Amino acid sequence: MTSLSDLPIRDDLRGQEPYGAPQKPVRIALNVNENTHPVPEIVVAHITAAVEHALRTVNRYPDREFTTLREHLAAYLGGGIEPAQVWAANGSNEIIHQLLQAFGGPGRSVLGFPPTYSMHSIIAGSTGTRWVTAERDEAFRLSPETAVAAVQRLDPDIVFLCTPNNPTGTPVGLDTIEAVYAATRGIVIVDEAYAEFLPDGEPSALTLLPGRERLVVSRTMSKAFAFAGARLGYLAADPALIDALRLVRLPYHLSAITQAAAVAALQHAPLMLETVEAIRTQRDRLVVELATLGYLPYESGANFVLFGGVDDPQATFEYLLARDILIRDVGIPGHLRVTAGTPEETSEFLEVLGRLKQ
Ligand code: PMP
Repeated sequence: MTSLSDLPIRDDLRGQEPYGAPQKPVRIALNVNENTHPVPEIVVAHITAAVEHALRTVNRYPDREFTTLREHLAAYLGGGIEPAQVWAANGSNEIIHQLLQAFGGPGRSVLGFPPTYSMHSIIAGSTGTRWVTAERDEAFRLSPETAVAAVQRLDPDIVFLCTPNNPTGTPVGLDTIEAVYAATRGIVIVDEAYAEFLPDGEPSALTLLPGRERLVVSRTMSKAFAFAGARLGYLAADPALIDALRLVRLPYHLSAITQAAAVAALQHAPLMLETVEAIRTQRDRLVVELATLGYLPYESGANFVLFGGVDDPQATFEYLLARDILIRDVGIPGHLRVTAGTPEETSEFLEVLGRLKQ
């Protein structure tokens, strides 16, 4: 047996740890912002039939352009988005990876506003793109002035705006996105993984796409859609930008089985999204009840809540874990993050945490 350090690995990867939240078999997993409600049985049955059908021709490579899936994703997004403006991959992580492969790389830089989704910087690293950062405003908000000042100072090739932002839950206003787009010559990637959890009627960055050929809106079926295990992320952008991704994607990256499953799930979109309202209710309840317990929760537009005022995050994490509840230490001193689960999961989390405070 040899060890990693004995191998002629790339210098920039030497000594690095793989990314990944702890995967532990617990009863209540509130650590990776999944939808904790299972897919409805009727949808499971339809997906099973669709996958079975796909298996009959699985001796052939899948449709490399996933035409039917793009039609369904475009219809789901609405607002006049055309299938030619949509692209998909195995999770939005792969979407982001392809974007950085096409528009980042050695000699180029990507700007992010930490604390933010950690894969943004990790994918920057693995694609050889220089990760540069700038500060947020009070309470993790991001005003047009602050964001534009950073863009002007750092002149990045790519800018990440994550809204609602993981791990803080903070939405970024369309005014900030518009201002950043106008200030940069680069690609603006708006990561809207949690968009469906925003208040009803809150406009998405999708509405800004017309006339902005360097703007990309990235989405996923992993969160609101309760489809994390199926691995389906997607984006909407100008068709020319998607042509750039065709240069870097591996041939046939989306399996016939993934395509069939995702199309079947999208045919039940309203049913698949029925839990969103219940999850928002639990999220808002977490904000209220965590404050009652003496913690400092942040308002969230996503399916999770970041809370401060934790004297010893590691000890609190371990205390909950010992009681079969897994949450997330996101590395912000004095803070922890918890996913909004079912009413029962949320109640148990709050109850157990409340006992710690007594
Ligand atoms: N973007 C954000 C902001 C996320 O929080 C996540 C998952 N935690 C992703 C993208 C990636 O999700 P997936 O690859 O499952 O689509």
